[in-house]
Amino acid sequence: MLADSHCHLNYKGLVEDQVAILTRARDRGVTAMLNISTRESEWDAVIATAEREPDVWATVGIHPHEADAHPHIDTAKLVERARHPRVVGIGESGLDYYYDHSDRVRQQASFRAHIAACRETGLPLVVHTRDAEEDTAAILAEEMGKGAYPGVIHCFTASGDFADKALALGFYISISGIVTFKSAKDLQETAARLPLDRLLVETDAPFLAPVPHRGKTGEPSFVADTAHFLADLRGESVEQLTQATAMNFHRLFAKTRA
Ligand SMILES: [Zn+2]
Ligand SMILES: [Zn+2]
Repeated sequence: MLADSHCHLNYKGLVEDQVAILTRARDRGVTAMLNISTRESEWDAVIATAEREPDVWATVGIHPHEADAHPHIDTAKLVERARHPRVVGIGESGLDYYYDHSDRVRQQASFRAHIAACRETGLPLVVHTRDAEEDTAAILAEEMGKGAYPGVIHCFTASGDFADKALALGFYISISGIVTFKSAKDLQETAARLPLDRLLVETDAPFLAPVPHRGKTGEPSFVADTAHFLADLRGESVEQLTQATAMNFHRLFAKTRA
């Protein structure tokens, strides 16, 4: 068992060659992939892939980069599309103050609308956060006070302190290929000490190809390389790491078991 908790199978670079890419992933032991939405215009295609492939599931959501372009997407719209049997999570949503592609106040409003959709559906939130630790932690905690909701911090690159806050809120933490980069010493330190029962792995394909594929278009099969690296880093067997992260994936995204 091996689960890629975050990929974009309908993005340019992967969509043209989806069948071969899925075959390569399965050949390397990938048994589950979560196909993540970033804008409304791709929801139909992202869900269609999940309808076609038994080991692919979908999310619906608006990336923080896209918040300005989606003023009409509210909790009700998310909840309505989330009723689809193959939609197992809400996101990716969150805050990105590194690129600031959308107004920060609009990013925050969109983030809260996604959280409300999680509360209403019981589905987990897929959180994107970059250079916005403080506001992300504050919003996650404040919204938790209105009623609990599950979730994952995807492509985790934040501080150990933020990891502790997210874990305390019950969140899972997903580690991408970035952890294999030589420059990622702080991330490696945090990833080495995360509790095994809260850990997920992902590719964020087509982005962030791990060592030894750096520079190539990322694809879900590469999650095996990240899992191997993480197992070594943590002093666990590859088997132990892949089984645990896959079980965590199906526990968090519980609708995948339906
Ligand atoms: Zn992201
Ligand atoms: Zn993503």
